[in-house]
Amino acid sequence: MFVYADHAATTKMRPEALKAYTEAANAVYGNPSSLYSFGQQAKELLTACREKIASLLGADAREIVFTSGGSESDNQAILSAAYAGAKKGKKRLISTAIEHHAVLHTLKKLENEGFEVVLLPVTQEGLVRAEDVEQAVDERCALVSVMLANNEIGTIQPVEEIGQICRAKGVPFHTDAVQAVGHIPVDVKKIGCDYLSLSAHKFGGPKGVGALYVKKGAPLRSLIEGGAQERGKRAGTEDVPAIAAMAAALEVSIAGMGTANALLKRLQDKLIDGLSHIPHCALNGDRTKRLPSNTSFCFEGIEGESLLLLLDDKGVCASSGSACTSGSLDPSHVLLAIGRVHDVAHGSLRLTLGEENTEEDVEYLLKVVPEVVDYLRNMSPVWRDLKEGKRQFIL
Ligand SMILES: *Cc1c(COP(=O)(O)O)cnc(C)c1O
Repeated sequence: MFVYADHAATTKMRPEALKAYTEAANAVYGNPSSLYSFGQQAKELLTACREKIASLLGADAREIVFTSGGSESDNQAILSAAYAGAKKGKKRLISTAIEHHAVLHTLKKLENEGFEVVLLPVTQEGLVRAEDVEQAVDERCALVSVMLANNEIGTIQPVEEIGQICRAKGVPFHTDAVQAVGHIPVDVKKIGCDYLSLSAHKFGGPKGVGALYVKKGAPLRSLIEGGAQERGKRAGTEDVPAIAAMAAALEVSIAGMGTANALLKRLQDKLIDGLSHIPHCALNGDRTKRLPSNTSFCFEGIEGESLLLLLDDKGVCASSGSACTSGSLDPSHVLLAIGRVHDVAHGSLRLTLGEENTEEDVEYLLKVVPEVVDYLRNMSPVWRDLKEGKRQFIL
């Protein structure tokens, strides 16, 4: 059995995206900046993709900048707004404790350059409170950045309310919508954001390509200097095949969203209900305000790292909030932000399903996850102490 349950990390390319990719790579491989007609064909395809992506997000084609993915889009949006704000003496940046590292590390860099960074806390359910944003924003703010859906615990944030607050106070608003675009409805006008980041490989497109929505009139500075591509805001020959694949993937994802989410919701209910029977566990993130693909749990008395390795032996691709693999022993900042203590946060498991997953996959997960948790607990000295009452259970 092989179960891919890590769609928040990346997704398989959709057949329509692969087809668009190979067609463009074969037939329209000219450089869109070349003046001869073969180059102009590539340019026309690029324009058509920009228009398609824009219309699928409720944006204007001129408001879409192609990038190398979510990380670049986040960097460009935040740095653009921050430096534009600083010119007017605004050096305060507001964000949240549960953002992706592409946001958090960019903010850290700006903090080292003298910006004031405020990271708002979240509720135990992993939700940002719009009231907190309202209290924190004032005329000194250069930017508010709040993600649309969290990549670890799947919680969906009140971005429309936050957008309204920002508009009322005249503060630019960026949202990292990488986990949302192609999965739940996203309309830049409804959100009322100035910047929105998306990444193709999270919705069945290729890796290494994404886009940044930049509202007309919002400042934008380039991160990469060179040619005049993307209206001078992102140098480098455009990856037209990848962009064509991204446009195709987005179109198909949005068209199939209703059906996909009905399936995912059913699988999620089954998975959450089933895993809840494991003793001393807890669901991470709000039960309802979450992506239908995301199931995240903490199991007391185990290490997420060992859990992943044993699941890998059983053919399951999953993820853990524990960041041991990245060489640090710190547990996930998201799990700490929702109030999990270190030991509990280390025992986390994130299963993120996609529309190619089946009922059988979920049944298999419901068989192997409890077995593996049990096996690890039986070997764990921490679990023995908990059972013998030498330590208090937290969950
Ligand atoms: C994956 C992800 C990113 C980074 O996107 P890349 O295209 O891999 O650079 C940023 N933010 C969130 C919420 C993500 O899930």
